[in-house]
Amino acid sequence: MRVEGIAGIATRMAEIRYQLAAFRAPAPPVSSVEGTSFAEALTAASASGTAAAMTGAAGASGTATALAGASGRSAALAGASGPAAALKDRYDNGRIPAAALAEVGSTGHRLAAPAAAAMEALLRRAQADGVTIGITDSYRGYDEQVDLARRKGLYSQGGLAAKPGTSDHGWGLAVDLDLDAKAQAWMRANAGRFGFTEDTPREPWHWKFTGA
Ligand SMILES: [Zn+2]
Repeated sequence: MRVEGIAGIATRMAEIRYQLAAFRAPAPPVSSVEGTSFAEALTAASASGTAAAMTGAAGASGTATALAGASGRSAALAGASGPAAALKDRYDNGRIPAAALAEVGSTGHRLAAPAAAAMEALLRRAQADGVTIGITDSYRGYDEQVDLARRKGLYSQGGLAAKPGTSDHGWGLAVDLDLDAKAQAWMRANAGRFGFTEDTPREPWHWKFTGA
């Protein structure tokens, strides 16, 4: 493998992220590679510096595994849609192995790869705008969903937990954020550009990735 320094690594990372984001759909025509997703991923990777580049490089082995596993399923994928279609095709809610998810920067939080890349870009933009956003929860396994439902009650019954096996956290598509008033307002004004939506009444901290 040719080493081209941090800039080369960052660019390669952006390519890998873009490919991961794209592999949910049948191979896109080359023209679509010039789209916003790649540009945003490149911007995110270029700005992230050495530590994040190292993290991304480590995470790329998981990406390779996911991509390898995806081969031969194009027929199934062609009928699926949404940012986690590939994951939903392979796994059940809350049963997704860590290697099939991607870390959001070096936060220790994991999401479906397209959501992770988008959240990373969002956090970078927020930081540039002087807004501090913390992540308190991300992917949530089935057992954690059961535990949460026991502790916080089902949303349908006035509580704060989804029925286990149905949570968007179980698809790696939802994040719970630590937001002060300024950050909450920033999210409401800007999150949509990164594909995140505030979709649950009574849970202003809960944001779902629906695709950028
Ligand atoms: Zn949540």
